[in-house]
Amino acid sequence: MFIRTRLVRSTAEVHLSKLEVNEMSSDNPKRILVTGGAGFVGSHLCERLLTAGHEVICLDNFHTGSKANVAHLRANRNFELVRHDVTEPYVAQVDEIFNLACPASPIHYQSDPIHTIKTSVLGALNVLGLARRTGAKTLLASTSEVYGDPDVHPQREDYWGNVNPNGTRACYDEGKRTAEALYFDYHRRHGVPIKVARIFNTYGPHMHANDGRVVSNFIVQALTGQPITIFGEGTQTRSFCYVTDLIEGLIGLMNSPADFLGPLNLGNPSEFTMIELAELVLKLTGSRSRLIYRSLPADDPKRRRPDISLAQKQLGWVPSIPLEEGLKHTIAYFERTLGLKSPPAHLERIVA
Ligand code: NAD
Ligand code: UDP
Repeated sequence: MFIRTRLVRSTAEVHLSKLEVNEMSSDNPKRILVTGGAGFVGSHLCERLLTAGHEVICLDNFHTGSKANVAHLRANRNFELVRHDVTEPYVAQVDEIFNLACPASPIHYQSDPIHTIKTSVLGALNVLGLARRTGAKTLLASTSEVYGDPDVHPQREDYWGNVNPNGTRACYDEGKRTAEALYFDYHRRHGVPIKVARIFNTYGPHMHANDGRVVSNFIVQALTGQPITIFGEGTQTRSFCYVTDLIEGLIGLMNSPADFLGPLNLGNPSEFTMIELAELVLKLTGSRSRLIYRSLPADDPKRRRPDISLAQKQLGWVPSIPLEEGLKHTIAYFERTLGLKSPPAHLERIVA
């Protein structure tokens, strides 16, 4: 056990030095709470904040996230992992709160829709209550789903959306819309410093193999020789952002001037059909999986692409990783986690 701990610690140190700690170190270290920190996006965010020299409390109920996603951070003395459900109040003295807790994949958020709404709404109330008491600034991870099946394309922040309020996606879409309303009301009523990010489809390492979202589904199916499941005719579009680009956008928004609250679109504006995505995954994996067609889920948006001119203007932010490059990193990650390729030597020591 002792040996394992030592090995993990040294791995974390190697990892941090690779990310050029000095270049990113903050001269103003803060204590930062990340709800949903053991999830796909949250785990990258925790790592990036630690790398910048901050203290991080990662709070998660492990519904769709996992300890494995943050295993490489646990030896860092600035990192604390707390099992907690955001539907219950949590108390800690913190400077900033990134509120990410919520399942993001349609199959997961629909598996317990009432808890999904509670997570967004009670989670927002609890986080905002904590922010009010501690004076912390808080950022909400909202979503492009607030635009529903949009009749305006591409989507700008001033578009109010086309959401079915009682369909099977409503638990997520309306939960996030209510959370946005709560964020702005706590700001107007109580002066709580807020930021609201509207995240568009994001992908990368640490997605769960059974996550159910399209990028992880297609890659896992291609790598394991299963048919690629195209929902509908595959002509619907999405715009995919690599996770490291998103993280820089979230941090840029958190650090933006106090009078800029958002909502702010964060996503990659390059738009692809699901057929195009499937073909690219097949090319990059060299897989001979065939395409099979399944029925389109209810209320599945037909087109989605962010207008990111506001993020460009306010933060100078534009995503830098093209889909093909991001997919290569993600494919390499799944090859390791599915045991199809050996992990790099330093990771091999963690899992041993
Ligand atoms: P994820 O499912 O991988 O991560 C969500 C995390 O929240 C998980 O670790 C989960 O265990 C945790 N969680 C869920 N309910 C909780 C609860 N009640 N209490 C405490 N923890 C809870 O999803 P993700 O892709 O990392 O998404 C993170 C955030 O970003 C979510 O709020 C999501 O709505 C938002 N978002 C993500 C995307 C995307 O494409 N990844 C797009 C739009 C919005
Ligand atoms: N999709 C698909 N095959 C899959 C999973 C998803 O064709 O195995 C489609 C889904 O119908 C949607 C798009 O891919 O049109 C993106 O789905 P995802 O669940 O990743 O995210 P969404 O943007 O719908 O929340």
